[in-house]
Amino acid sequence: MTTTVRFAPSPTGNLHIGGARTALFNYLFAKHTGGKFILRIEDTDKERSKKEFEENIFASMKWLGLDHDELYRQSERMDIYKEYAVKLAESGKTYKCFCTKEELDKKRKLFEQLKRPYKYDGTCRKLAKEKAEELKNSGKPFVVRFKMPEEGETVINDLVRGKITFDNKELDDIILERTDGVPTYNFCVVVDDALMKVTHIIRGEDHISNTPRQIQLYKALGFELPEFAHIPLILASDKTRLSKRAGAAAVTEYQDEGYIPQAVVNFLALLGCSYSATEEIFPLSELIKRFELTHVNKSAAIFDFTKLDFLNGYYIRQKTEPEIADLVRPFLLKAGITPEESLLLKVVKLEKERLKKLTDIIDSKYFFTEVTEYDPAAFEKHFKDPAKIELFKKYRTEIADISFIAADLEAFTRNFAEKHGKKLGELVHPIRLALTGKLVSPGLFEVMEVLGKEVCMKRLNKIV
Ligand code: GLU
Repeated sequence: MTTTVRFAPSPTGNLHIGGARTALFNYLFAKHTGGKFILRIEDTDKERSKKEFEENIFASMKWLGLDHDELYRQSERMDIYKEYAVKLAESGKTYKCFCTKEELDKKRKLFEQLKRPYKYDGTCRKLAKEKAEELKNSGKPFVVRFKMPEEGETVINDLVRGKITFDNKELDDIILERTDGVPTYNFCVVVDDALMKVTHIIRGEDHISNTPRQIQLYKALGFELPEFAHIPLILASDKTRLSKRAGAAAVTEYQDEGYIPQAVVNFLALLGCSYSATEEIFPLSELIKRFELTHVNKSAAIFDFTKLDFLNGYYIRQKTEPEIADLVRPFLLKAGITPEESLLLKVVKLEKERLKKLTDIIDSKYFFTEVTEYDPAAFEKHFKDPAKIELFKKYRTEIADISFIAADLEAFTRNFAEKHGKKLGELVHPIRLALTGKLVSPGLFEVMEVLGKEVCMKRLNKIV
């Protein structure tokens, strides 16, 4: 048997990091088993579905490198759903429900007061056929509901969570067609998964409650059941719901913040699945080799920004310096800095060990633009005492005569400090402040070499 999986996002928002994790697990499973990966856009909700969100989903998947083998849009498959709706109706497994929104709200309130989970009470299920016809002919709006079995159990043999049993009494008569005739999620998803011969449904745990309902639909339609694997939720590091600040952002927002796809893929793959007892760094090819549904955890995955940053830094450093330059350049341009190419390469060489996100390059803008501001506390500390200023001025006069090679600069500065009974730091900090405006930078003498004598002298002369 060849495997087929699908990722089925609704284009009602940008592709979120949680959705991307679901897509990735499906992709890894397909590649690991030599199967097919389908992308299905679930756009039956005309109000909320937007082309721009669909495009965001495509762009994000492409950026992550999760290419699909087949693409479908539910909005283009309405005739198919209609055909199966008719079949189901003919077999007597559905009924028209004429209950109005007000009536349903009332029923729901009643359940709320009784503190019981709401379930449609089946008023219209009991309606005589002729009565239903009469109401329909009178033009009263209706939805089509599925006759859920009222006895017995529905069992999911979940590949991640094991056996999950539902009492059929708890399942309500789900709506298959809205008043405007548009088929609902639960109906389309079953028809599609069956016709697309999806063998494994890998999706978020939040869909578990839909699964017994869908299983009953499979049975009613005479379709063969697929396997189900519900993957765990992603929680924030404090184990609460993942808010936007805690990581629940769109993939494209991660891209804009300077994360690179190799790191995001590795990071997402670790959210709820293990590949080794000791290692955590797995490029896509390695993930494909190792991915097993049996290694997906039952318990929630925790989103950890420190790990993401670590992985991002790691994958940045796997690249060559010209590649890193190409990656950081757009971020500099966006910040209004047009870097000179040979200077950019030198800066990348200096900074690459420290980069966690590509946007960190903006911290090094002093290489490309004038320093106009100085850290106020540091300025106060190093440039208020007249004796310190005098020493600084002496240093800048003397250094003007030496060659701007990091090793020479260091030797000279050490010597100068010693000669004046100072620690090296007492000179390094004010010099760094003059050259960068900051308290931290890569090694000062390397920075000086990259900036060159002319720029350094200008800046040393400007600060006091
Ligand atoms: N369109 C559904 C969603 O966005 C897909 C659920 C499923 O995978 O069955 O959540």
